[in-house]
Amino acid sequence: MIRIAVQAKGRLYDDTMAFLSEAGIRLSASKRALLVQASNFPLEVLYLRDDDIPESVASGVADIGVVGENECAERGADVDVLKRLGFGRCRLSLAIPKDEAYEDISWFSGKKVATSYPGILSRYLASKGVRADIHVITGSVEIAPGIGLADAIFDIVSSGSTLVSNSLREVETVMHSEAVLIGHKGLSAEKADILSQLLFRMDAVRTAEDRKYVLMNVPNSKLDDVLDVLPGMRSPTVMPLAQEGWCSVHTVLGEECFWDIIGRLKSLGAEGILVLPIENMVP
Ligand code: ATP
Ligand code: MG
Repeated sequence: MIRIAVQAKGRLYDDTMAFLSEAGIRLSASKRALLVQASNFPLEVLYLRDDDIPESVASGVADIGVVGENECAERGADVDVLKRLGFGRCRLSLAIPKDEAYEDISWFSGKKVATSYPGILSRYLASKGVRADIHVITGSVEIAPGIGLADAIFDIVSSGSTLVSNSLREVETVMHSEAVLIGHKGLSAEKADILSQLLFRMDAVRTAEDRKYVLMNVPNSKLDDVLDVLPGMRSPTVMPLAQEGWCSVHTVLGEECFWDIIGRLKSLGAEGILVLPIENMVP
């Protein structure tokens, strides 16, 4: 049995749950308990505040966890980063009142900066040789300058619209973050084995996500031309159709070249092109 710590509610919750479910992990949908066991995989889910996830994995209360890199960096937890998950993207930035003149980081010398991330901020300012007064507040950091609580803020930014609506402007980007899968250092052999099964499932989902299964009908006379433009995993499958002179071609196409290739196939005479999603792809 392996235990994964995930955010109980908040911005990472939906994507984390979707990710587990795509990896084929079934969790009881009944009322949410703190600890829920999967019905078809040796895994249990521990729901926590994201602040507590890095430490719970570092200490071994949970074996693995899904959390923002920013939260990991803030806590300085001693964990392995197993996988970048591609969701929960944001950046941590310094922002100042929009009408302030700003040239460089020395602006912050002697200023009062409100943040929920004092660890990341103090390391950053120290690396720049700037001494500022860091004022820790949890939540609604962006209103601090407006109400006279601070001169500037250091906070999470995604679109920037929160800054704009609080008359702030971003002046320094300190770190980029996304959700990561973290792991306890020194898992038992049994847990490491379950983890590798889980990672394997996750990779199969990832690989499948940007690929499509494509079927089409092709006149035999055009078959060689069509095969020339198809990359395919090894080679496409070609089957005769009941109608004389035609065959059916099946292949897998990557998203990046997909539209380009579909266009070429049509102009080569392929018909009835069907594009199907792939749920999993095991390399
Ligand atoms: P908790 O109640 O679990 O402590 P929280 O309020 O601290 O939650 P959320 O706002 O749910 O945290 O954000 C969780 C994580 O989602 C952040 O630490 C960050 O990594 C990521 N994130 C991605 N986009 C955004 C965004 N636009 N605003 C805030 N966080 C974001
Ligand atoms: Mg939190």
